[in-house]
Amino acid sequence: MKITDGITLIEGAGANSNCYLVECASGMNVLVDAGMPENFERIRARVKRIDVIVNTHCHYDHAGADGLLKKEFGAKVAAHELDAPYISSGDAEQTCASLFGKVFEKVKVDLVLKDGMVIEGTGLEVVHTPGHTHGGICLYDRKRRILFLGDTLFAHGAVGRTDLPGGDPEALAASIRKISSLDVEMILPGHGECVLSGASGYIKDVLEKMNF
Ligand SMILES: [Zn+2]
Ligand SMILES: [Zn+2]
Repeated sequence: MKITDGITLIEGAGANSNCYLVECASGMNVLVDAGMPENFERIRARVKRIDVIVNTHCHYDHAGADGLLKKEFGAKVAAHELDAPYISSGDAEQTCASLFGKVFEKVKVDLVLKDGMVIEGTGLEVVHTPGHTHGGICLYDRKRRILFLGDTLFAHGAVGRTDLPGGDPEALAASIRKISSLDVEMILPGHGECVLSGASGYIKDVLEKMNF
């Protein structure tokens, strides 16, 4: 489903995360999150080329298909420095693979991300938003005022779970406060529906209702 020019949503079937194909002005194709291994065929059927897979965090429902997609497309894998070790070691607990009764196929992280860096050739800025996992990130397209959220926040007022390994309610609240200061029109979450207009106001409303 086309979200806007250059951004296509591949909706998460079942427990799979949403995946977003971002066709950058530079010609680079970025996949924001990969889903689980069973999501591989869905992506392969819809996407011709992937240069980089950016994981919003290390969970199995977002990064489980990294290995298969890397092999198929020769894509680089990117993740925040605090979640990257869990992906490269296939940590069953921190990736929540054990929760799904699965094994996480470990995959080398080629591009280790830090807060504030802009991923070359993409215009996407890394915003470290811990609380759901240690190394969770949002990706900010400042020019187009679009924010990819991962599992930090969702439509309809829902916020990320903090009861999984790496979860921290206070850190999550601080992260939502952090993204509430960004000028954002559109938010694209890791599951469920997107908010396609007035997203800054929406984030501020959610923060107010969190009572921190
Ligand atoms: Zn998720
Ligand atoms: Zn998650």
